[in-house]
Amino acid sequence: MSDRYDLLVIGGGVNGTAIARDGAGRGLKVLLAERSDLASGTSQASSKLIHGGLRYLEHLEFRLVRESLKEREILLRTAPHIIRPLDFVLPWTASRRSALRVRVGLFLYDNLAGRTSLPSSHQVNLRRTDWGRGLKNHYRLGFTYSDCWVDDARFVVLMAMDAANHGATVLTRTAVTGLEAKGNGWHATLESSSGEKTIEAGMVVNVTGVRAQEVASDIAGFNESRGVRLVKGSHIVVPRLHAGNHALILQNDDRRVVFVLPFERRFSLIGTTDTPIDSPDSEHAVDEAEIEYLLRAVAPYVKQVPGTDDVVWSFAGTRPLKNTGDSDPSAVSRDYALELSRRDEAVMLTVIGGKVTTARKLAETVLERVGPFVPSMGQPWTASARLPGGDITDTEAFHHNLHARYPYLPRPLLDDLADRHGVLCNDILEGCSTLKDLGKDFGGGLTEREVAWLQDNEWAQTAEDILWRRTKCGLHMSPEQRDRFASYM
Ligand SMILES: Cc1cc2nc3c(=O)[nH]c(=O)nc-3n(C[C@H](O)[C@H](O)[C@H](O)COP(=O)(O)OP(=O)(O)OC[C@H]3O[C@@H](n4cnc5c(N)ncnc54)[C@H](O)[C@@H]3O)c2cc1C
Repeated sequence: MSDRYDLLVIGGGVNGTAIARDGAGRGLKVLLAERSDLASGTSQASSKLIHGGLRYLEHLEFRLVRESLKEREILLRTAPHIIRPLDFVLPWTASRRSALRVRVGLFLYDNLAGRTSLPSSHQVNLRRTDWGRGLKNHYRLGFTYSDCWVDDARFVVLMAMDAANHGATVLTRTAVTGLEAKGNGWHATLESSSGEKTIEAGMVVNVTGVRAQEVASDIAGFNESRGVRLVKGSHIVVPRLHAGNHALILQNDDRRVVFVLPFERRFSLIGTTDTPIDSPDSEHAVDEAEIEYLLRAVAPYVKQVPGTDDVVWSFAGTRPLKNTGDSDPSAVSRDYALELSRRDEAVMLTVIGGKVTTARKLAETVLERVGPFVPSMGQPWTASARLPGGDITDTEAFHHNLHARYPYLPRPLLDDLADRHGVLCNDILEGCSTLKDLGKDFGGGLTEREVAWLQDNEWAQTAEDILWRRTKCGLHMSPEQRDRFASYM
């Protein structure tokens, strides 16, 4: 006999894991199936911001911005080790938006969501303050405001861990390849390297990102078009362009904005483009033209202008957006849509779009929608719950105590572990009394002990899972070190 679940969640990105976590915590029997690694879709390739989206105000997306700003506050408390405040500086230039327009936008941004723990926006003199570091000298007027930074791929993994802690079954490298309506539920075919198996599910949530249309039609047989368009965004990583912990938001001559974020201490992350694509198969491909676009966008602003040879890493992610008929991809709403499809008594909910920022709230909305089709379940609970490792009230004191507890371990290594795992780094380091106890040093801040933890607790299986999603150690390693690590795995 096959296993029976209340809820089958297809897709292990930020939205799928948030839904699985919420559902499991409400007492549902949940199965999450991800065909590759957790966060291997768009959720590893976002701009890594927990933000309202200042630029969405220009498109009058007040609902989305308000909801996102409220979520920003909740998520800061939920996972302070992987979500941190980030100040932005907008250097003003007369040839772009007027100063009045920027001030009005920032006023709305400060006030749309009510009280926030982050500082409100300010006008600053870039020549006389540290906010101007790295910028060309002719920029004098600037504006600062606050948002948050997130390690997007780790956010996904922590939600999967929490889902499992609440009883969900999380299967990675397991694709859903068949869905057959049976009575008031589904028979789902799951395919993995160990073969094929069938499970039963009362309700299915299709959270497969750019594949949502394909899963709904080719696998579940719902042929109506979801009117989705795909818009790809690329990012590049270069050696640090400016000192300080703040980010830059730069207005481009096509009215788009480009971010320059401090990244992995030594680097700057520049993004993003907005390129319509026809097929999800090219969701992760970064084009030469996109690299040129990003380099051109920062060149008028920064003293140290980067060139193509400075690009040490690049990545792209693709958004499925509801087709509104707008020709400008930047103007299409970033809000999510939920679509219910029925075959007789069997019901499937498809999620289209959404942001990393709103994943928790989206999950609450999804559970409200699936409520009538699953056994009775508990109340919303995630707004006040911490994610694994996130039980930290004072980050500085937490790092300080860690240094004191492990004086024989290098501080940068401890800081990286703390930033990735929060209080769980104590579990990783348990019984460790010398540096040698961490086992092999693979370079880039990665040790054998952490690798074992990632394999045992975080579904990591390949070198890529570890070097580019569970950590960003790959960025700090030489090509030879990466090859050696791949052979080790
Ligand atoms: C360039 C860019 C920048 C962005 N920046 C931000 C930002 O800064 N802040 C923010 O809040 N949001 C941002 N977003 C939005 C955000 O990244 C996405 O909305 C979010 O990651 C989507 O998550 P998801 O879980 O819906 O999809 P995905 O992360 O794509 O997950 C879908 C998963 O489904 C799996 N799957 C597909 N088919 C099957 C199958 N048959 N069986 C099992 N599994 C399957 C895939 O392998 C994949 O892992 C950005 C988006 C883009 C494109």
